[in-house]
Amino acid sequence: MACFSILTAFPEFFGDFLSTSIVGRAVKNGLLHVDLVNLRDFGKGNYRQIDDYSFGSGGMVLAAPVLKNALDFISGAYPDKPLVVYPSPQGTLLTQEIIETLFHHNQVVIICGHYEGLDERFVERYVDIEVSVGDCVLTGGEIPAMAIVDAVSRLVPGVVGKSEAVENDSFYRGMLDHPHYTRPASWEGMDVPAVLVSGNAADIKKWRRQNAVERTLKRRPDLLSRSGLGGYIEGGFYVVLDSSVCSNFVYTEAELNELTVLCEGYGVTRLLVVAWSPANRDKLLGCVPEENFAKVFLSWGRALEWVKKKEKTEPLCVGLSGAGSKDEAYHWVELKRVLLERKTSVIFYPYAQGEIGFEPDVLMREPQNGRLSVIGNVAAILDRFMGC
Ligand code: SAM
Repeated sequence: MACFSILTAFPEFFGDFLSTSIVGRAVKNGLLHVDLVNLRDFGKGNYRQIDDYSFGSGGMVLAAPVLKNALDFISGAYPDKPLVVYPSPQGTLLTQEIIETLFHHNQVVIICGHYEGLDERFVERYVDIEVSVGDCVLTGGEIPAMAIVDAVSRLVPGVVGKSEAVENDSFYRGMLDHPHYTRPASWEGMDVPAVLVSGNAADIKKWRRQNAVERTLKRRPDLLSRSGLGGYIEGGFYVVLDSSVCSNFVYTEAELNELTVLCEGYGVTRLLVVAWSPANRDKLLGCVPEENFAKVFLSWGRALEWVKKKEKTEPLCVGLSGAGSKDEAYHWVELKRVLLERKTSVIFYPYAQGEIGFEPDVLMREPQNGRLSVIGNVAAILDRFMGC
């Protein structure tokens, strides 16, 4: 359940919003709780005055003592200090990440500004986050408050009928949503893409993912830095591990375990471990956890052949370029675009140098200028490419 208190001088704004459609149903079913607090109840004098002239001329400003009294009243009803949100054109642009953060707070107070806004001293002392719904100025914070409550409510399980619908929404995994169509299948000479009426669930899923990627690359490439590629690249995502240096076995069982957990946790297709020698292979088979996920090969060549056969395409091999080297290495955000555009499986080699004969098709600059361990490199790579 999501709980909000909204402080506003115009509570009547929210009547239809809280009783209509999906939000109305969420309120009725107890999945969303919104307390409307009328700022005028805390106004001064017979006229319940809540504002005053801006010092130095200008419009009206909501007064700090009135806001503070109202906030004290609201906070008194909560066991812990609530998170105070002020919708303002000067705030951080509202994003899905902010919405998810608010969703994870049990107690959120939204303070709706009006006129010239709130007295800045109140903002400085009591507001935790200022958020803007866009680079434009509205007359009041009520519509932004509705936008926030609406977006958070979609994350509450049970509010939106199919959770799949929310998971495919724009921004949910950092990508834009795919296009949608409904009946009639043919309209004004335009047909719905044939695959969507084919009934083939796997093809439909693939088409949707491809179209989500194309839209994001074309319309909002800036989103790539915060999007996870899991499920969007066409083919598997593999990490290859060089288990020995100069024939010496270099990983402990605990380290191999850690690497396996990392790769599985981020949705890597398989961890490919190159043993080099039969003796190393025997050692590895004795300690690599969950043999099904981490697959041991005698050489890099065999690992590559195995991936090619499994994927039925030529994978893109990605290596790291060493600290300070001038070779043509991609910035990791740019590399994300390349991986999506190449439409093939990916094999990541998390070392700047190596002995297994791995020949990268593209290079990425080594994370943190080569200051990390291999486990650190793997974690950084997976979080940048598969995390969201
Ligand atoms: N003088 C303010 C300024 O220029 O920054 C604008 C005040 S605006 C007319 C009144 C109230 O509307 C604000 O205090 C804020 O609560 C809300 N508001 C206006 N535009 C907004 C936006 N883009 N995002 C969020 N809230 C907004």
